[in-house]
Amino acid sequence: MLMRGLKQGRCFLIRLDHSVDIVKQISDFLDKEKIEAAALWAIGALKGARIAYYDQTSHEYKTISIDEPMELVSFIGNATLLNGKPFLHAHVSLAFSDGKVVGGHLEAGLVFAAEVLLQELIGEPLIREHDSTTGLYLWGQQ
Ligand code: ZN
Repeated sequence: MLMRGLKQGRCFLIRLDHSVDIVKQISDFLDKEKIEAAALWAIGALKGARIAYYDQTSHEYKTISIDEPMELVSFIGNATLLNGKPFLHAHVSLAFSDGKVVGGHLEAGLVFAAEVLLQELIGEPLIREHDSTTGLYLWGQQ
């Protein structure tokens, strides 16, 4: 187990733009505000999404594309550094009109309406690097 002590930096409540990708909007905000680490939460609704499931044997993501309106029931994620730039890692739960929920690793999502709470974290840089055990880019290798 690895642990890093961090301090709280700025805190933002962000209302995202309609019909623009959620990952792009948050990533652009991280770039613009020069945020290197953060915890993020969001709720709202998406017009469509692309989520993924990580196969722990093949070490590959299986993509699931959904092209219908959904509630963004929960979005939880973090921002760290990958290749010297802020990198958003988020997982979502999405509900259909019948209340059934799917979830996974968020790759993209077209915003209907969404509100993001972003807590900047200050401390030693959290740099993601390839981890041979999992095949994932994890922080704390350095
Ligand atoms: Zn993930």
